[in-house]
Amino acid sequence: MIYLDSAASTPVRREVLEAMWPYLTGDFGNPSSTHSLGERAADALAEARASVARVLGARASEIVFTSGGTEADNLAVKGIALGAPRGRHLVITPIEHEAVLESADYLRRHHGFRVDEVRVDSTGLVDAEHFTALLTPQTTLASVMFANNEVGTVQPLAELAGIARAVRVPLHTDAVQAAGWLSLDVAELGVDALSFSGHKLGAPKGVGVLFARGRLPLEPVVHGGGQERGHRSGTENVAGAVGLATALTLAEQTRTADASRTELLRDALIAGVLSGVPDARLTGHPTARLPGNASFCFPGTSGEALLLELERGGIVCSSGSACAAGSDEPSHVLLALGYEPTLAQTAVRFTLGASTTAPEIVETIGAVGRAFRAVRSLAR
Ligand code: PLP
Repeated sequence: MIYLDSAASTPVRREVLEAMWPYLTGDFGNPSSTHSLGERAADALAEARASVARVLGARASEIVFTSGGTEADNLAVKGIALGAPRGRHLVITPIEHEAVLESADYLRRHHGFRVDEVRVDSTGLVDAEHFTALLTPQTTLASVMFANNEVGTVQPLAELAGIARAVRVPLHTDAVQAAGWLSLDVAELGVDALSFSGHKLGAPKGVGVLFARGRLPLEPVVHGGGQERGHRSGTENVAGAVGLATALTLAEQTRTADASRTELLRDALIAGVLSGVPDARLTGHPTARLPGNASFCFPGTSGEALLLELERGGIVCSSGSACAAGSDEPSHVLLALGYEPTLAQTAVRFTLGASTTAPEIVETIGAVGRAFRAVRSLAR
């Protein structure tokens, strides 16, 4: 099988599993316990927190471990908005993950927030002028994803953060897809909050991180025993945190080399698909895109039918985000980029991982052409 769905999930790395193992077995204590087993777990958690903070250029006290990207996004949007609801106004993009979109909608429905969506162009880039016009000194929070999970477009985040800072509006970014590929240095990016998830970078599912700048009031979403400095109650997932910290640190060591190598393969895949299937259209930005993302629309087909055909040929990919897969709804991301619903339903996303090889790309290019012709001939 050729796995080209790394944006959906990645396998746990061996080094990560080995780092986690002691905290699932011998050192299984609860970090809140005062005996030695508890202390060892608390020490491991502190070390994991410090490692994540090092990669982000943040303070350890600014790192909150969560149950994943979805919870980190919820805590960022709801937690910051409800922590200081000044102005009750949110600015988001229409191409955010559901974790941000639905959190903003919850604040609108239950807490009287006004939600404005900033315009994006046909490649998915945020319109900086419109962003500037929407922000006011009364805006509670802006949330702009670093890189899109469907079309891979990467935003000029530092520029957008500068615009938000000028009017003192806190900026959160969903960096779930950027993690492992782009620098998450929060000082360079100029963001106030950033979320990401373990399972996209070789750690297990069910663990994530929210970085929230120290001075930001953060209302908890999960209440209970006051773990994570009161920001996120619940007995900590020690092994998960150790795994995520290990995966992030390892990814950071090879990040630029992995990104350059993967970009070459991605560009070969894009060029091969576009020449093998002249009708195909690349979605997202031609250059400002994630190193591993090659996403297309295939007019006259159905994305779901192409997926089935590709899987028959041994290639596993996705029709968009994992959450939207299986549903007949056209992608909200492609609709926001101006695609007609019928064209949006022909989307297929290939996402490469650090272990994707050149022969796999060559085989995929051939398989895409065959799948396209098979599905198109049935549609006629
Ligand atoms: N945000 C983005 C951009 C994502 O791609 C995903 C997952 O696909 C999430 C958030 C949710 O992360 P998790 O699966 O850890 O809940």
